[in-house]
Amino acid sequence: MHKGAITQGSVLKAIAEYDQLGREEFLAKYGFGEARSYVVVHDGREYDSKAIAGVAHQWGQGRALRSDEFSGGKEHAAAWLKRAGFQVKAVKNPDWARDEIILACQLVRENGWKGLDAQDARVVELSGLLQLLPIHHEAERNEKFRNPNGVARKTFDIATRHPEYQGKPTNGGALDVAVLMDFLDRPDEMAGVARLIRQGIAAGELQTLAPTEGEEVDDFSAPEGRLLMRRHQARERNKSLRKKKIASVIHGGGRLACEACGFDFEEVYGDRGAGYIECHHVVPLHEAGEGRTKLSDLALICANCHRMIHRRAPWPTPGELRASIERKYAADRRAAEVIARPRSAVDEQILKP
Ligand SMILES: [Zn+2]
Ligand SMILES: [Zn+2]
Repeated sequence: MHKGAITQGSVLKAIAEYDQLGREEFLAKYGFGEARSYVVVHDGREYDSKAIAGVAHQWGQGRALRSDEFSGGKEHAAAWLKRAGFQVKAVKNPDWARDEIILACQLVRENGWKGLDAQDARVVELSGLLQLLPIHHEAERNEKFRNPNGVARKTFDIATRHPEYQGKPTNGGALDVAVLMDFLDRPDEMAGVARLIRQGIAAGELQTLAPTEGEEVDDFSAPEGRLLMRRHQARERNKSLRKKKIASVIHGGGRLACEACGFDFEEVYGDRGAGYIECHHVVPLHEAGEGRTKLSDLALICANCHRMIHRRAPWPTPGELRASIERKYAADRRAAEVIARPRSAVDEQILKP
């Protein structure tokens, strides 16, 4: 049995049986559920992609795959069907990422916090722009992806969440509200973020940056969105920049120690840690813009503190993180002193011989 070795012919046979039995009976016969993520499109009709891919195995591979033997997603069924020459499409479009909501929110703001119609030229323009953003994979989008209707709906979701809106919110999630609040708290800064995303896409620069790891869960930790976060990381990981920063610190007689917690890789790891430290870009991206990174924009930071800075928005500066570490340390020490306070003179003698 070679999983995934399905051909155009075997898929067509599975489709023919599906047509003959009807959806319900076909799924029941082979033990599959309805497709939740992808459908395969053939002759204008849609089929449950996982069931079709699994059943196609019985021609050439001896038996149909059971549902628990593979996934229906882009790792397995969807990928196999595409390879066999079929069109596969997402059932549901992906949730809006923070970047997309930032762009929509800026439009709603420019429109006096009112929603816009699908026919509005600005909605049509934004729809085109959203389709260019390198955030959601082609395979996860269907033909309605960020079309003017969907964009218009999102502008109403945002507008009806505005604190001054009288009436019930149309829809929308926690991330819409979070972005709206950012705009109300810091309008100029957020407008700047929206502008940077637009410029970065127009210049083609943001399309070239690799996604950061686990970035889908980052929508609440990257205040300026995924794309500018990619740029932030690219700047920090720029090898020659980091080398220059390290050289300048050593040249100035400094130590390669974390500016937040003081961790020194060489002190702890010896030779293996010598010369190692990460850099954190301290200037917020909406201020740094597209300009070149200055060495003074980079702070030396250990891997743990770096993670903690980026973990949740707003990001503390290394100095702020250091202050919070010190506050916690002082509080812990006070607590330890209370616990260790001698209960009797005898105890005191034991503690202070
Ligand atoms: Zn540190
Ligand atoms: Zn950083």
